[in-house]
Amino acid sequence: MQTNLAPEFLNTPRGEEAESILRKCVHCGFCTATCPTYQILGDELDGPRGRIYLIKQTLEGAQPTEKTQLHLDRCLTCRNCETTCPSGVQYGRLLDIGREIVERKVNRPWHQKIIRHSLRLALTSPLFGVAMRLGQSVRPVLPQFIKAKIPNRKTTHHNTKIPLVSDLSQLESMKSFSSSFNQKESRVLLLAGCVQPSMAPNINLATARVLGAMGVEVLYAQGAGCCGALSHHLNAQEEALDQMRRNIDAWWPLLVGGVEALVMTASGCGVSVKEYGHLLAHDAKYSLKASKVSASTLDLSEWMESKSKQLEALKQKLDATKIKLQGLQAYHPPCTLQHGQKLKDNVQNVLVYLGFDLKISNQEAHLCCGSAGTYSVLNPEIANNLKSRKLGHLESLKPKAILSANIGCITHLQSGTELPVNHWIELIDHCLG
Ligand code: SF4
Ligand code: SF4
Repeated sequence: MQTNLAPEFLNTPRGEEAESILRKCVHCGFCTATCPTYQILGDELDGPRGRIYLIKQTLEGAQPTEKTQLHLDRCLTCRNCETTCPSGVQYGRLLDIGREIVERKVNRPWHQKIIRHSLRLALTSPLFGVAMRLGQSVRPVLPQFIKAKIPNRKTTHHNTKIPLVSDLSQLESMKSFSSSFNQKESRVLLLAGCVQPSMAPNINLATARVLGAMGVEVLYAQGAGCCGALSHHLNAQEEALDQMRRNIDAWWPLLVGGVEALVMTASGCGVSVKEYGHLLAHDAKYSLKASKVSASTLDLSEWMESKSKQLEALKQKLDATKIKLQGLQAYHPPCTLQHGQKLKDNVQNVLVYLGFDLKISNQEAHLCCGSAGTYSVLNPEIANNLKSRKLGHLESLKPKAILSANIGCITHLQSGTELPVNHWIELIDHCLG
């Protein structure tokens, strides 16, 4: 698609990147057919081709309006359109550029600014855990729309602790004072995540136990926090870049000290950390480190699938009777995994290899469940419509439980079904002998 950039975008990194993405789009509209917001709203401007056109107009100098902003806001950033596009258009990157420019040129209504700012503050605050526990303690008496955002607290029977260290010498000195560490063959870093430890603390603990059974030690890096995706998708790009730099500083001494990989238990964080190299490419101080951090980042399923020997060792430690008792599990692959990271089959491959009975629905498995970070709070009607659709397909498989790979999807789906919705690693942990 020919684009004539307005002078303000000519010879700028964003302008050049946007132009090279736009050049690939042939306007065929294949992407529109698989876009969830187009399917629900039926408006060309609520599909990828229409949004691409709005961004192109803005880059060519047209003044965007509140309506332009609304159509861009309504995008789930699910990147389903990227999977469908035959020309390899990197829609997600173009949308980031378009949203940032439109945010500067359109004055958002004050109530929207307050909500978006509060979400950023609340979800990344250290007090979020306290608020979540408080909410969980009074959950039964809360109105339904608030209850839906507060999952029941899941208890964990194991006494697992994940060491929090700034470098490996600190870990060695912890070991010399405590007998609770077993010698392991290798080490990986986990990102605790901003909301996951409060909403579903069992996920990272289950990961530590399963990886422990594979002979791998799991660590947290002191000083690491939110991956930055939340602020990035709420158009607070500078805040997001600062969060990314802080994480790189926290991870770097451990990665150069011999930690094998940065393993992500939430696919939403994984897709974000894999993009650090791109997002910090123009930062002279951090670009090299950022690209190395991204290259060291793997989704948990991706990492486990690559470790055939350790996976076999894990299989030997699972209780076959317990596996049988789990029955059929319906799996929802999050968009951040199947479209963002192009990892559609890894979870299924790992679980089937280990002996679990798992199915992905053949109805609309590519469609978003409506969670999409803060989307379900900001656009509840579309989010709930997608949730019902997704749950309808999953429940029609008659499973004993639903599995997914991202805390946002798990919480969102759980709010609409009586079936338990778990992270897939919890299923493996449950069946450790
Ligand atoms: S983004 Fe891809 S699928 Fe969509 S209109 Fe452009 S070329 Fe076609
Ligand atoms: S990212 Fe998802 S919601 Fe947004 S345009 Fe693409 S398919 Fe549609």
